[in-house]
Amino acid sequence: MRTGIIDAYGNYEDVLRDIRRFTSLAHGSDVLTKILLGNYALLDRGRPLEDLRNSIFRTALSRNSRCPLCERAQVCALDHFLPKNHFPEYSILADNLIPVCERCNRLKGDECDTVDGLLMFHAYFDEFPDIEILFAEVNVDNVVSIRYSLHPSDEIDNFTFERVKKQFKILGLFDFYQMEAVAELTDQIDLYDETYDSFGDSGLWSTLGALARGAERKGINHWKAALYRALSRNAEFCSGGYRKLLATPMN
Ligand SMILES: [Zn+2]
Repeated sequence: MRTGIIDAYGNYEDVLRDIRRFTSLAHGSDVLTKILLGNYALLDRGRPLEDLRNSIFRTALSRNSRCPLCERAQVCALDHFLPKNHFPEYSILADNLIPVCERCNRLKGDECDTVDGLLMFHAYFDEFPDIEILFAEVNVDNVVSIRYSLHPSDEIDNFTFERVKKQFKILGLFDFYQMEAVAELTDQIDLYDETYDSFGDSGLWSTLGALARGAERKGINHWKAALYRALSRNAEFCSGGYRKLLATPMN
């Protein structure tokens, strides 16, 4: 079985590219599945692979401790990108172990689309599209409201766009980002106030544009980049409408 597992490790990237063509080598064998799943405990404290777990987290924390799936929360759990219940042979393969946040780990669960092959974006092997597809819509009416949405681009193939949509759906990212955006704006209201009082619409417009460009360094489709792009394009918000943030809770 050792040879079969080493072969499976060699195939890992092929499985990521088109999971529809592969089944687990443990498929149909409860005994083998149980043995391979049991390997995961080797990563526990005091067990032989404890160092592997620690070094995966150390590497993640030294680069960017944000969860790669939501780009928001701190990493604290190890996700099996290909779920160990579907592919137990990858239960201790370092390439398959990705530090994520508690929320994403829980929501992703055993998600593994073997029918349509729409996998989420793998932090080590995939690049999230760098063409603008995430948009925030800001409405300044009685209250300030924010809605996120995805829009396809001619520059992104349909399969990739479907994967993005699936990731957003499984992780509930539209609602999550909306809540985060509310918290972000509420935190920044004094900055908007002071900028507007000193420099007027154009001052606030350029400050929001600078915040958008700063956030875009994390990726053009980072939720904060989409938020600030939308705010900097919203004339009503920039001409004092932001004060409605204070007046009434947003939804
Ligand atoms: Zn997350």
